[in-house]
Amino acid sequence: MSPRVYLEFLGCRLNAAETEGLARRFAGVGYEVVDAPAVADVIVVNSCAVTTQAARSSRRRLRALHRENPNAELAVTGCWATGAASQAAQLPGVRWVIPNIDKGAVVAEIAGRVADPAPWAPGRWGHTRAFLGVQDGCDHACTYCVTRLLRGPARSRPLTPTVAEVQRLVEQGAQEVVLTGVSLGSYGRDLAPPESLTGLAGAILADTDLPRLRLSSIEPWDVDAALLRLWEDRRLCRQLHLPLQSGSDAVLKRMGRPITVADYTALTDEARAFSEEIALTTDILAGFPGETDRDFRETLALVERVGFARLHVFPYSERAGTPAVRLPEPVPHSVRKERAAELRTLGRRLAADYRQQFVGQALPVLWEQQAPEGQWTGLTDTYIRVESRASRDLYNRITPTRLLAAGRDALIGEVLLPGSSGAGPSDEPDAAAASGCEV
Ligand code: SF4
Repeated sequence: MSPRVYLEFLGCRLNAAETEGLARRFAGVGYEVVDAPAVADVIVVNSCAVTTQAARSSRRRLRALHRENPNAELAVTGCWATGAASQAAQLPGVRWVIPNIDKGAVVAEIAGRVADPAPWAPGRWGHTRAFLGVQDGCDHACTYCVTRLLRGPARSRPLTPTVAEVQRLVEQGAQEVVLTGVSLGSYGRDLAPPESLTGLAGAILADTDLPRLRLSSIEPWDVDAALLRLWEDRRLCRQLHLPLQSGSDAVLKRMGRPITVADYTALTDEARAFSEEIALTTDILAGFPGETDRDFRETLALVERVGFARLHVFPYSERAGTPAVRLPEPVPHSVRKERAAELRTLGRRLAADYRQQFVGQALPVLWEQQAPEGQWTGLTDTYIRVESRASRDLYNRITPTRLLAAGRDALIGEVLLPGSSGAGPSDEPDAAAASGCEV
């Protein structure tokens, strides 16, 4: 009988992409990839440490998995395993602790052999959309960031084989590919000859039949007019995730982020000039050391000014080894939480305003899952979740969809297909997008 492996990740899209890749490689060496830890012989966790909470969650999850299946051997990789290797090794059931730098050897380490990965297929390895890690590590030096310490220097996958892999994913059924990395915007700078994210995305749009390409988080200082011009191609999803972190120049300076509020604002205006309805999404840290009430008001004002389609908000948390832990004037935890809550409230209002502008329009929706009671859930290229009742199988299909009304955290849609029964309104809540290393 084939050995059975269960894989799980915490954190960012790069962890998601890597975990899908690991699952395919385990299948390639003859393991059965199971979707329940209780029946696994080996359990692999791709951990996260971007915040104190994420590190705590990684530890707790490993303990819970051991309780659920004490007979399984646990392997932990990822950022928490890289930064807390000795702690991880002492957890019950943990046999392998594999740091980020050796993540490529997880299958060889556990299975003792390597082989070509099993083919990708929508939903087979966890996601309907294909997450593709094209870059890792970071050469920037944001003072609060532990990711760069745990992921190492910036490094990129060569362009030509990456474009070829995207075409293979299309042939294997991918409707949308999400390019991801730690510092995606610095893609290609380490290659000889150097490449760029604009070059990679441009080559994917030009040389593959991919219906939808989505870019995950890009640091604002890595975005230029050449990249923005790519949005003239409607196959590039109209979403630009630009971490802001703070709307105060004084705080940005202490964060070591090489951008000013004026530059950031000008960039968002420029992006809208290329794509008027583009979904600008972002990350914000609340309560960074020295953040005054005035700094925080400036952040609220900038968020309102930009009108983000989605905010990921994190109360600042000290990460060992980062310069920020030595900064003076720490903000009390209660204030960090209050500010984060105020930002999230603003974020929900702006997100609802953003969705509302599409009511009445017809947009292509990629359908990803169907609830037991029959309702389909999908995603527009502008990263809006849409719900619809349709009698036919919509899985992994992109269909024109009339957006009828706003639900809670989603829009209600009617599938516009010849012979389709149309949609019934519903008020089911929607699952919020995951957040991760994009802090
Ligand atoms: S926040 Fe992003 S850009 Fe800054 S150091 Fe961390 S990974 Fe790099």
